[in-house]
Amino acid sequence: MTGMVDLLVRMSDSLETIKTDNQPINGQCDKKEVPDIGQERVSCDLIEMLTENSGISMCDSGGAYGRHWQRNRLIKDWDDRPSVTLSAMEYTNHAGYKSFDIDIRIDLYQALNELLKIDEDTFKLRERFNNFAHSDEEKNNYWHETIENFVNEINDKTFYEEPFWHNTYEDENNELSQIIQFFSFEYEGDYYAFIEIHGGADIRGGYSDPYLFKVHYEDLILCGNVGRDDGDFIFKCPECGVQWIEKDYGTLYLEKEYDEAKSKIKSFESEQLTLEGEHINQGDVVSEIHKRVQVAKDIEIKENDTPYHKGCKEPLIYGYY
Ligand SMILES: [Zn+2]
Repeated sequence: MTGMVDLLVRMSDSLETIKTDNQPINGQCDKKEVPDIGQERVSCDLIEMLTENSGISMCDSGGAYGRHWQRNRLIKDWDDRPSVTLSAMEYTNHAGYKSFDIDIRIDLYQALNELLKIDEDTFKLRERFNNFAHSDEEKNNYWHETIENFVNEINDKTFYEEPFWHNTYEDENNELSQIIQFFSFEYEGDYYAFIEIHGGADIRGGYSDPYLFKVHYEDLILCGNVGRDDGDFIFKCPECGVQWIEKDYGTLYLEKEYDEAKSKIKSFESEQLTLEGEHINQGDVVSEIHKRVQVAKDIEIKENDTPYHKGCKEPLIYGYY
């Protein structure tokens, strides 16, 4: 019985995949027209990975056209898009004051396009890998096995660090618009990575085929890393320069009011201390701050959940305090 259900699911999966594969693919380059070496090739490969049909499963939650690779096929110009976007949701928390949940999204295509290289050495390694992957010993293996075997085979014994797999899904502060996994290795003193882009809805599957690039793994991890350490994160209006300081994730203070707020908190704390037998309750202090300082003043959310400074036309940007 289970076998029959499996078979039906698989049949339905392949039918769905065929259906959506008939969509025209915007923004893709003509592979044959692009040189094998150089930045144009990097962009071309990335778009191919981002629009690759990484499969549809009847059981995943993507819905029709809900997966990254499907939405990516609608993009016409990959370079003419913002490299970082913010999306905000306003809510009222349990204590009754206004907060914002602001998400940062770093465009994967643009972030990788700046980091990845394909030079003469990379091209040679790509050719070698291509032959290796299609050899009789490897052609029936999974990509991951083939990649590991390949790196083992070319091992020049000068590794400072052992080759390893990494998935950005594991990085707490990663805000890349899509998840990637990669296998990093050293070869003749340079760092390379086989990169796969996640295009599906279920993290366990739905990755593009691996592509080899010259890149340092630290850059790959850091390019999507947005450290949101308490107190040093800001949102800024690029038009007039007004800034909000984020405290306690989602609680934004106008910078010019924040110092004032801090002194008000201090005096509130000392007031409390003078009350005999009382001890300071941190919750009381926080709610007092919100009574005394207007939170997230003058932020307005417009189309596509984009946050703006009231009256200004450029969307907010983020930075560090
Ligand atoms: Zn402004």
